[in-house]
Amino acid sequence: MTSSLDGLGRWRSFECLAALQRKRLPHVLALAARSPFYRARFSGANAPSSVADFLALDLTTKQDLRAQYPFGMLAVEHDRLATYHESSGTSGAPTSSYYTEDDWTDLRKRYARKWVGISPSDVFLVRTPYALMITGHLAQAAARSCGATVVPADSRSTAMPHARVVRVLHDLDVTLTWSNPTETLLWAAAARAAGYRPECDFPALRALFVGGEPLTPQRRRRISELWRVPVIEEYGSTETGTLAGQCPEGSLHLWSDRVLCEVFSPQTGRISPEGSGQLVVTPLYREAMPLLRYNLADEVEVSFADCACGWILPTVRVFGRSSMFAYPVGDTMVTQQQLEDLVFSLPPEREVLFWRAQAELRTLRIQIEVPEAQRATAVQELGAALNAALRIPHEIAAVAPGTLVPLPILTQDQDVLKPRGLFGPQEDWDKALLYY
Ligand SMILES: [Zn+2]
Repeated sequence: MTSSLDGLGRWRSFECLAALQRKRLPHVLALAARSPFYRARFSGANAPSSVADFLALDLTTKQDLRAQYPFGMLAVEHDRLATYHESSGTSGAPTSSYYTEDDWTDLRKRYARKWVGISPSDVFLVRTPYALMITGHLAQAAARSCGATVVPADSRSTAMPHARVVRVLHDLDVTLTWSNPTETLLWAAAARAAGYRPECDFPALRALFVGGEPLTPQRRRRISELWRVPVIEEYGSTETGTLAGQCPEGSLHLWSDRVLCEVFSPQTGRISPEGSGQLVVTPLYREAMPLLRYNLADEVEVSFADCACGWILPTVRVFGRSSMFAYPVGDTMVTQQQLEDLVFSLPPEREVLFWRAQAELRTLRIQIEVPEAQRATAVQELGAALNAALRIPHEIAAVAPGTLVPLPILTQDQDVLKPRGLFGPQEDWDKALLYY
């Protein structure tokens, strides 16, 4: 048996993988018992220590984590912590997560498992948030551990508008990027607005790493066609780091040698190794904040069927919080994924990158941004696709480019202001302190 999957090693069999998980679990349970939360949960009972004990454990929920804000899950001395992060749900209540330096070794290795590899010759643009979340720091740490040159671009900073991203992508010969999928569409539009052709004016680019947002195969293919490079998806969370990565065949594989993944069915209450339901994770190498059967509540489908890539790792399809993105039109529930599928199935020459839809009780209203010359054809094709796939009443409006994503969003490149108090006679002192 190989001892690790670093790089992109392969397991001989699923049984080997399960054996590793079973061997690791008693250690994971012992670490967890050091945190105030699990110590309280196990009080009065014998602390779980075996695989059988683990399989009888209740789920740990997001509500549990919120209730333990900030350090109720802490299982090591404070001074061993390397970083602290938060994610906040729609309720606004923070969920803390924290990692030691050793935890970071595991985090970096999981992120770096990309089939195209990351090497010292790479220039790696990080375009996800840095503030409180883990995503930007994770990509930066993983890329640096592989020797790459990191360009920290953030995605929530006024210092880095899309026009500046396009300039950097082009002038620095960026080879790899990390962002959500929608960003890559915005860059394509911003590149065109700057006079570049995404398909040929960025020859150094060799892959786009994306995550943090559901992505249909149709949209992934369109992004790949636009930039003429592979789009490599991954899946994870601030509370866990990377959980799954995409293989050359286009499937997402769970990093099950590092995280034990299970599927919870809210309908039956059962927890199984595979099938459809909510993803439940137990990180196997985590000391600052051990999690036992943590329910991420993302809708997934996990399968142990063989994949053509040959990786002996289960595959996962991630639907996200699909209930949040499904709305009724008449008697039919409509999901964002269904519509994204249809919009990005339009031929590339229609040049549709941006769309939005509103599900009203009796009709679905869709707007697509499309150039004048393609408008009639695009509306007719999308209408036919909607009739074939969903059979619901709909109104499709073709709107001019710049309607859904205003042109200044793509072209502005304003200076970053600094705080200032003293102004000259001709200067506008209303700009005092305006750097915020
Ligand atoms: Zn595969």
